[in-house]
Order: sequence, then structure tokens, then C-alpha cells
Amino acid sequence: MLGNLGKSLTNTMKKLAGMTIIDEKTIKEVVKDIQRALIQSDVNINLVLKLSKRIEDRSLNEKPPKGITPREHVITIVYDEMVNLLGKEPHELEITDKPYKIMFLGLQGSGKTTTIGKVCRFLQKKGFSPAVVCTDTWRPAAYEQLKQLTEEMQIQLYGDPDNKDAVDLAKKGLKTFKSKKIIIFDTAGRHKEEKDLLNEMETLSEVINPNESMLVIDGTIGQQASEQAKAFSNATNVGSIIITKLDGSAKGGGALSAVAEIGAPIKFIGTGERLDDFEIFDPERFISRLLG
Ligand code: GDP
Repeated sequence: MLGNLGKSLTNTMKKLAGMTIIDEKTIKEVVKDIQRALIQSDVNINLVLKLSKRIEDRSLNEKPPKGITPREHVITIVYDEMVNLLGKEPHELEITDKPYKIMFLGLQGSGKTTTIGKVCRFLQKKGFSPAVVCTDTWRPAAYEQLKQLTEEMQIQLYGDPDNKDAVDLAKKGLKTFKSKKIIIFDTAGRHKEEKDLLNEMETLSEVINPNESMLVIDGTIGQQASEQAKAFSNATNVGSIIITKLDGSAKGGGALSAVAEIGAPIKFIGTGERLDDFEIFDPERFISRLLG
């Protein structure tokens, strides 16, 4: 379980290697290294401080269990504290009700449309045939982009580029696909004002009454991630998070901060532009990446 994490913390942990007693000074040094790694990975500073305080307190006060070296014990504590935030096991997308309504949220450019395609592909592979409703009346090409994407995958789409009323589109989409097992709602990612976008999400959320609202966050945006998550979470009930663009150099610390901010689990990550560049979120790998 500690394999990857142990490796990624190698340099830090070298300081502890071979020691049987780890004193306060050494622990403080190690915690500093962890702080540095987390800050470089864009984790929110308040969260870094909170996490490192817990790691320090526990490392100083808890006795290593029998057979565990002090070094392993500190690694375990670091891992434990991160897992407390992210959860240990991957979170499944469970299709419980029929229709299971998934509402997508996210700012323009976050990768929301691409991610809808990826989730559709994921669900198709599991034997489902989801339908998609386009309620984005702001971006002129939104419907066209979804049309192309869904046609390729032979997925049914409801939308009307001439209708500028998102709520009406949602209602009609609900009616059109009421007998489907899964309905996915695309929403706008931009308005003239952010406030208007969030108001629209609140109203849409009341009308759609989704089983799950999935927030798509660009993994490269760093510190802004928690703000975004908070804003969407105040307007709707965000049930899960998808982090995109983790194929680049971004380490996803912003995403971790977003999770800590709103408490919703990350379910998937996007790792490229193609439909198959999509993975079930693996907490342990993510933690290794953050600290690596
Ligand atoms: P939307 O405005 O939120 O609907 O965003 P789009 O789905 O149109 O995506 C915006 C850009 O991000 C496009 O160029 C996508 O190809 C790209 N994109 C989306 N997801 C990923 C990802 O996981 N990795 C990379 N590298 N690019 C992505």
C-alpha cells in the first residue's frame, strides 16, 4: 500500500532512514519538505497548514505499532491524512434510480463537453446507453459540438440551438428521455456574469432534480479550484468531481483543495483529449503524484 508513496517521498524520507528514534527536529524538517511538495503542487495554503499540523502532531505523539520503523510510521501518517481527505477506495459511479439523472457543471474550457463524451463512452462500455440533453444556450457551438460527439458514439441527443431558455430545454429533455435509464445534462459554462451562471445552475438543479451533479474542474487551474468548487457547491448540491487535463504537468493540488473545500469525492480524471483518455480516480496514485 505504501509502495508508490514511499517512492515519491524518497528524498524526504532519506532523512529518516536508519533512525530508530525520530526526534522533534527531524519530524519538523520532514513536515517542511512535505509542505513544500504540497505547495508546489498547488494545494491551498490553509489546507497545507492543516494537513502538516496533523502530520506533525501525530508523528510526535503516536508510538509506531510493533514491527513498524519510525520512518514507515511517518509515511503511514502522511498517507493516512491524505486518504482521510480523498477516501481510500475509488468511488464508483453507481446507477441507482431510473432514470439516473446526471447534471454536469463546470466553467467553459474546463473540459465539460469532452468529459460528457468520456462518461458516455465509459457507460457504454458498461452496457448502458445514456442520452444527453444540451441546455447550454450561451456558447453558440455547444449544441454542434455535442451533436458531433454523440453522433459518433450513436448516443441520443436532445437540444435546440434556437431555444434560448435553458430551463425549457431541460424540461423538454426530461420528457423526451423519461424512459431512458441514464440522462446526462450538459449546462452552460459561461454567462455575462458569474452570478447569472450560478443562478441558472441553481434553477436548473431544481428542475432537473439530478441524482448526481458532477463538477468538472480543470486540473491545471491551481489555486482557483477551491473557489470554483465553493461557488458551484453553494448553488447546487455537488455530488462528485471530475478533474481534467491531468496528462500535463499539473499535479492536481488544486483539485485536492477543491475536494477538501466541498467534501465531494473525485470519481474520474481526464488524461487527454481522446474519449478513452479517462480513468477512474485512484486516490493512492494521486497522492503519490502530489508528493512526488
Ligand atoms: P468545455 O468548454 O468545458 O465544454 O470544454 P471542452 O470539452 O470543449 O474542452 C476544452 C479543451 O480542453 C478542448 O481543447 C479539449 O480537447 C481539452 N480537454 C478536455 N479534457 C482534457 C484532458 O483531460 N486533457 C487534455 N490535454 N485536454 C483536455
